[in-house]
Order: sequence, then structure tokens, then C-alpha cells
Amino acid sequence: MAHRRRPLARAFLLNTIVLVVELVGGVQASSLSLIVDGVHNLSDEMALGFLVLAYTLRQGLSGRLLRAANLFNSVGLMAISVVLLWQVVERFSQPVPVLGVVPVVAGIVGAAGNWGVARVLREPAREDAAIRLAYVHNLGDTLLSLGPAVAGALVLASGRPLFDTVVALVIAGIILVTTIRSVAGSHEELLWPENVACGHE
Ligand SMILES: [Zn+2]
Repeated sequence: MAHRRRPLARAFLLNTIVLVVELVGGVQASSLSLIVDGVHNLSDEMALGFLVLAYTLRQGLSGRLLRAANLFNSVGLMAISVVLLWQVVERFSQPVPVLGVVPVVAGIVGAAGNWGVARVLREPAREDAAIRLAYVHNLGDTLLSLGPAVAGALVLASGRPLFDTVVALVIAGIILVTTIRSVAGSHEELLWPENVACGHE
């Protein structure tokens, strides 16, 4: 167990850096694309936290509890995504100046951090289904975090904050669709939690 806890703890730490940089940067620069990606990484943080817990507790966590936690997390992320989409709509009617250099830098930090998370999980993912899911997910997140960087570059080049709003809309849409699909796809596992990898060995 301990040999899996260490890479998971490292992934958790890297993800913490990503979400702090993105959320603080997003609020400071009024960058919605950064805030949306930061909130998404906050949800990933909870999922990673439960994995760390599952491999830290001597008796592990039951598959049922892990599933319930992930479902709760997914529903929370969907709810927040809808709120953020509403903010995006408001931004379209009332544009706010965006400090473009911040999403460029924070987006690159976010992409590097998510790539780092995937990198440290690659080894343990070979033999553990739950960690493999996190590994594949964070590989995708590496691309998603480049969104704010692209948005910031377009704002800098054009002087128009609209690009940040458009990218925020795209990222929020991707998060909403992939989360709904993963909840729908895990339906069978929710019914038969004993089939799911958990802290036991
Ligand atoms: Zn994610």
C-alpha cells in the first residue's frame, strides 16, 4: 500500500499548486477561463484526496464509500459548472478587462502541473484501475489547462477580453459534458461497488 501512497501524495501536492495558482491568478486577473479550470482542479483535488486516504488507512476505504464520494464530487462539479456558465453569459453582456499575461503564465503552470501529476501516477497506474483512471484523466487535463494560456495570449494580442470569455465557455462545456458522461458510464459500478478497485489488496 505504502508504495502507492507516495506517488499519490506527490500528485496531490502538485495538483494543490495548480489549483492555488489558477484560482488566485484567475481572481486577480479577472480571468474566467482560469477560474473555471481552477475550480475543475479543485474537484480533482478532492478525488485525489480520497485516493490518498484509501491507500493510507490500514483497512482501506470500501468501494461503496469511494464511489459515493466520487459521485458527490461529480455532482458538485456539475453544479459549480452551471454557476460558472451563468457567469460566462453575464461576461458576454458586460465585459470586464482581463490581465492577459496572468492566464498565460498560470495556464502554463497548470499544464505543467497536470502533466507532472500524470507522470508520477504512470507507474502505479499499470497495476491499479483507480489510479489508471486518475492518470488518464490528468493527461487530458494537461491539454485543458493550456486553454487559459491560449486565451491570455489572444487577449494580449488583440486587447479584447472577449477571448477569455469564449475559452471559459469552451472549458466549462467540456467539463460539464465529460463529467455527465463519466457519471452515466459508472452507473454499473455504482450498483456493484464490490467490483471497483479500492484500498484493499
Ligand atoms: Zn481534471
